[in-house]
Amino acid sequence: MEPAVARARLEELLAELDASVAVVRSGGGGDSGELSTLDQHPADSGANLVDADREEAALEIVRAQQERVRDALARVDAGSYGKCIDCGREQPDERLEVRPEAERCVDCQQRVEATR
Ligand SMILES: [Zn+2]
Repeated sequence: MEPAVARARLEELLAELDASVAVVRSGGGGDSGELSTLDQHPADSGANLVDADREEAALEIVRAQQERVRDALARVDAGSYGKCIDCGREQPDERLEVRPEAERCVDCQQRVEATR
């Protein structure tokens, strides 16, 4: 993938994540794609504590994702974007299309996740 294309996609992703943070902070309500999969129930009265916990968990996921996107941008700058950080193999465009922030190839990612 062209570095310029990768950078544009990553910056777009970062902006989307920023928007997600704003949505979570404002107490949800908006449909932000990714976050709608996080099992958000309509707010019950008296469930504020649980909501705060859920909000914190959601923010943590978004922040971790932002971190990965920033790392990927740093790799664009360093000229190593698209290469697996473990085995150095060039990742296929199809994978980067789906996960522009991917730092490992599918094989290495599975290995990392298996040892978790
Ligand atoms: Zn690899």
